[in-house]
Amino acid sequence: MTATIIDGKAFAENLRGRISSHVARLKAEHGVTPGLAVVIVGSDPGSQVYVASKARLTVEVGMHSEKYELPEATSEAEVLALVARLNADPAIHGILVQLPLPPQIDSNAIIALISSDKDVDCFTPASVGKLTIGLPGPVSCTPLGCLMLLRETLGDLSGLEAVIVGRSNLVGKPMAQLLLRENCTVTVAHSRTRNLAEVVRRADIVIAAVGRPNLIRGDWIKPGATVIDVGINRVPAPERGEGKTRLVGDVDFASAVTVAGAITPVPGGVGPMTIACLLANTVTTASLIHGLVPPRDLTA
Ligand code: NAD
Repeated sequence: MTATIIDGKAFAENLRGRISSHVARLKAEHGVTPGLAVVIVGSDPGSQVYVASKARLTVEVGMHSEKYELPEATSEAEVLALVARLNADPAIHGILVQLPLPPQIDSNAIIALISSDKDVDCFTPASVGKLTIGLPGPVSCTPLGCLMLLRETLGDLSGLEAVIVGRSNLVGKPMAQLLLRENCTVTVAHSRTRNLAEVVRRADIVIAAVGRPNLIRGDWIKPGATVIDVGINRVPAPERGEGKTRLVGDVDFASAVTVAGAITPVPGGVGPMTIACLLANTVTTASLIHGLVPPRDLTA
């Protein structure tokens, strides 16, 4: 058996098409141009490429984009001042501070200052609380993207066994909340989980969000399961030439594709969905800030 490959790139492109239509309508009917500000501190090359493509796609869907690339040595006070300025800027409806931040900056202090009206990646304690108790509010971009792909692949998720590997605030925990909301039976595994292979083998849905190349092997996967690989790992690729690298996920794709029912590739799976959901969330926050009903087809 060979799994269906879940084409996140194509799904994200389609989602961005719908976002463009909503942005055009917001501009034409209400004079509102949704604006997204992305803040990155330091010079991690991976993050910079990611931020550059976020900015490009933001403009492509017709939104206003601001990108702040600050040097590694930036102080906490400087980042706090920038966030305060963006909170007050009427042209900005979404603020994303790229994590992790350098060690001299307390991420929690920065996150706490982001206006919850502009919290497009569900970072703030208020947004996390709303997600947990089921109140309307922003939904973390990567888990939202995973959920959209799961619904597209499986339809109703009710009653399915879901195993999430990884318990980060950014991916694993909000993913668990979203899948609970879909009536899945949810297990969150992590670095201290015993018999991880056995736990994963129970799952109808596997979400891998660890950051370990090829950790989850085909023989851990229940035949026919749906596998969503969030991991992005850069590994050496000598076959491409000396010093070359390539991206792989947390799932050993070659063995998993022969067992799973459906699987996301890396790259081209969850990554493009994360960016599209960031744009979708910015349309939502822009609508809410202007007292408008946000579009229903862009969120969970
Ligand atoms: P993180 O480092 O914050 O969390 C990793 C989690 O994995 C932890 O909860 C830890 O307990 C668990 N873990 C570590 N080793 C383990 C092991 N051997 N067995 C089981 N669990 C283990 O990472 P994160 O921010 O959640 O990101 C995870 C991965 O997803 C990374 O590769 C990251 O680059 C990627 N990511 C991708 C996207 C995307 O858009 N595709 C978005 C966010 C993160």
